[in-house]
Amino acid sequence: MPVRALILGGTGEARSLATTLAGERGLEIVSSLAGRVRAPQLPPGEVRIGGFGGTAGLQEWLRDNAIDVVVDATHPFAAQVTQHSVDAAAELGLPIVVLRRSPWIEDAGDRWAHVPSVAAAVDALPGLGTRVFSTIGRQSVAAFVDAADIWFLIRAIDPPDGPLPPNAELLLERGPFDVQHEAELLDRHRIDLLLTKNSGGDQTVAKLSAARAAGVRVLMIDRPPLPAGVETVESVAAAHEWLRRLLAS
Ligand code: NAP
Repeated sequence: MPVRALILGGTGEARSLATTLAGERGLEIVSSLAGRVRAPQLPPGEVRIGGFGGTAGLQEWLRDNAIDVVVDATHPFAAQVTQHSVDAAAELGLPIVVLRRSPWIEDAGDRWAHVPSVAAAVDALPGLGTRVFSTIGRQSVAAFVDAADIWFLIRAIDPPDGPLPPNAELLLERGPFDVQHEAELLDRHRIDLLLTKNSGGDQTVAKLSAARAAGVRVLMIDRPPLPAGVETVESVAAAHEWLRRLLAS
């Protein structure tokens, strides 16, 4: 009987892992997406889309689909689904690993202020900048709806569903971005603060290099903590190795 693995996705790493594992002997993969992006980049193989209905719904889905192992390769800020996957796997006694790319680290010349959440960023923003480049995603930007004294350049893949801050321009584009592209944006819009989550990875890191070179401050939203005690790996290769060891045992 093949081992059936669920990859919780919505990231480049999840797609890359599904690609790496396609055709692996003794393994069947199902990838899961939340369904937030209108035209998602799909991984190869079987894909299901949409929420499960909390921890209980996920547990039921895992049982109904005879899943043997779970890889949570969701975004570092998708804390809810990660908690659900860890709880559901524990309840069913399934092995689980969380694939989390390492966070960005402050470098010489960086001017970062750190906050622990989007709500804390709302409080910290006044006084830090007046022309803000927001790259925190379309779901979080509604938190800044009352920031009337600040102008925002809001970058997202799809338009936000909720309200926007009153002084805002929307920029719809999908990474990866290079440093020259990011530097031009900062310059053209006279940006004095970059608002970002510490997503990590190389797809969207260029904005930090551009901000450093231009002396632009960064308001960095730090990552939410992982569930206590969960096993983690930092790369697709390490997740592959973790699965290989599991298949061998
Ligand atoms: P979240 O707050 O942790 O999850 C909210 C709910 O969305 C979950 O309870 C679950 O619904 C559903 N969900 C999330 N990821 C899912 C998946 N891969 N498959 C099936 N259902 C999923 O997550 P989020 O921050 O809204 O992120 C949603 C998706 O976008 C994630 O897959 C994540 O990898 C991706 N993403 C997030 C960010 C970010 O900044 N948060 C950035 C890039 C990509 P039920 O409770 O109904 O199961």
